[in-house]
Amino acid sequence: MKVVFFQQHGGPEVLEYTDFPTPKPKPGEALIRLHAAALNRMDVMVRNGWPRLKLEMPHINGADGAGEIVAFGDDARELLTSAGSAQEADSLRLEIGDRVVINANLGCGKCQFCLAGKDNLCRDWHLLGETVRGTYAEYVSLPIKQLYRLPQDFDYHQAGASALVYQTAWHSLLKRGNLQKGESVLIVGAGGGVNTASVQIAKYIGAQVVVVGSNAKKLELAESIGADILIDRSKEDDWSKAVFIATNKRGVDVAVDNVGMTFMQSLRALRKGGRLLTVGNSAGPKFEIDNRYIFAKHLSIIGSTMSTLNDFREVLDLIVAGKLKPVIDMTYALREASLAQARLWNNENFGKIILDIH
Ligand SMILES: [Zn+2]
Repeated sequence: MKVVFFQQHGGPEVLEYTDFPTPKPKPGEALIRLHAAALNRMDVMVRNGWPRLKLEMPHINGADGAGEIVAFGDDARELLTSAGSAQEADSLRLEIGDRVVINANLGCGKCQFCLAGKDNLCRDWHLLGETVRGTYAEYVSLPIKQLYRLPQDFDYHQAGASALVYQTAWHSLLKRGNLQKGESVLIVGAGGGVNTASVQIAKYIGAQVVVVGSNAKKLELAESIGADILIDRSKEDDWSKAVFIATNKRGVDVAVDNVGMTFMQSLRALRKGGRLLTVGNSAGPKFEIDNRYIFAKHLSIIGSTMSTLNDFREVLDLIVAGKLKPVIDMTYALREASLAQARLWNNENFGKIILDIH
């Protein structure tokens, strides 16, 4: 099969479009012929590498993908031990030729957290494309519990664009952050995939959405998907003040900050008792915060990553029903993966960048 892989860490030049053995599905797995993959910032971080990341080279990027099932490994259905969740029950009905989207959140399926339906707390957790070879490939083989069956007419690009970012935003906003109808939520950054998903999910449940963005064009696009209050950070000395004024000097109930170094502004923009949610740090992992804001304002900082199999299914149900609409920025051919990664890393995108595979 054709893939894009890298044999050592480095810049975009380490990505090679080349041949690689097509995987054989192991027991419990299905082989998927991919039609689309989607990029995430994690792909570039993995390509660059970090000190404790140990990969079996060559490595294949990619957490998101959608395609059709072309083969099953032995005992694929029998190995679903409990079929306790709706996700697992649906996996039992998968057939060759079914169109599916992939959940990259790989729990072991056996530990106390997986059995309790909290598989993103799994003690042996992996993320597809991070420590396991991913979806920048014509085929991928995965346990069938990782697959969500798509309706016949649902677009593979839309599906590929949806899985990681919507499950991440859904779990963070609703399950960890307990965002309620009528609350206000600040989203720091307008263009990224998780942020566009967060805007839509917050609107879907009836929250008021404030977006801080880097330029007028991105803010216009944020407004087109439901943002209520737009703040252009290129025109503000301190955007936290602008948020405060825009909320009648009350502050927002919830802030979504996946930038990191903007935490202080997000903490200032929150009302007393507010919650700051984070699922990443696009501007780097280390920054300073002033602890006085946290205790004096009764603030909570709540982290999470990815979601559970059930959260994934809940949000995919809304996507295939057309209630949430993945935003696609641009589509590239698989062989153009390095160009696609550059666009993402330079924050030129609004929404998801897709690799067209078949
Ligand atoms: Zn587990």
